Amino acid sequence: MTKADNRIALVTGANKGLGFETSRKLAQIGIFVLMGSRSIARGKAAAKELQQEGLPVEFIQLDVTKPEQMRRAASEITSRYGKLDILVNNAGISVGEGHGRNSTESVTPKALRATFDVNFFGLVELTQRLVPLLRKSDAGRIVNISSILGSLAIHSREGGMSYKPFAYDASKTAVNTFTIHLAAALAGTAIKVNSAHPGWVRTDMGGPSAPLAASEGAETAVRLATLGPDGPTGKFFHGEEELPW
Ligand code: NAP
Repeated sequence: MTKADNRIALVTGANKGLGFETSRKLAQIGIFVLMGSRSIARGKAAAKELQQEGLPVEFIQLDVTKPEQMRRAASEITSRYGKLDILVNNAGISVGEGHGRNSTESVTPKALRATFDVNFFGLVELTQRLVPLLRKSDAGRIVNISSILGSLAIHSREGGMSYKPFAYDASKTAVNTFTIHLAAALAGTAIKVNSAHPGWVRTDMGGPSAPLAASEGAETAVRLATLGPDGPTGKFFHGEEELPW
């Protein structure tokens, strides 16, 4: 059994893909990880898999579109630990894709709203509820899982990205705005806030043709979650490379 140090992390969407691998890597370095999952069955199974590897993790039910679950998670963390050291806002969806259904001209209001509900509104609300607990940490770290597809600089470059799922990309641009604004609001505190692009990763979302394994994709989030006191805040990274907004 890996002995937990006194750091507590919460990873959303931790039952599979990048969230699962990020949880595994954080737990492997001794951080106690609360693995958020909207499904009780999937979340418990994922936590059990890592517990069987001897890792300090626990399942916590957390659908980021459900205010009541976010409130309950914050109050449970408050009463059990009294602080939070790391928040990895990883849960994300991309809906309305395929056959041009997520283009600027064709995306439905429903798909646009559903995407923003998870990727942006849920992320902001959960973070707001947890900032008071992150303030109690000696070294609070917030990692917002964004995407290079949220980079306006890259999309607007000549020859830049041809793949443009609009709802998803706009939601990640909004996430990046939150990163910049929250980092500014928390300047002078011990909390660092950064956006991460994991790379194109083989998960249910990334598909089987992606070049990176989930364990490789998780590396950016883990680096930003464990930055030292001199590390950056209010920035956007893939690995060690800083990306343009
Ligand atoms: P994934 O395998 O589809 O996993 C997404 C996770 O988010 C799942 O655990 C899913 O839970 C969870 N989720 C969805 N809606 C939720 C909600 N309302 N509340 C809580 N959890 C919810 O995707 P992934 O590739 O690991 O993606 C993780 C993050 O990386 C996302 O933010 C994504 O945008 C970002 N990203 C991925 C890539 C890539 O190439 N894969 C590239 C750039 C950025 P369920 O199992 O219950 O659906």
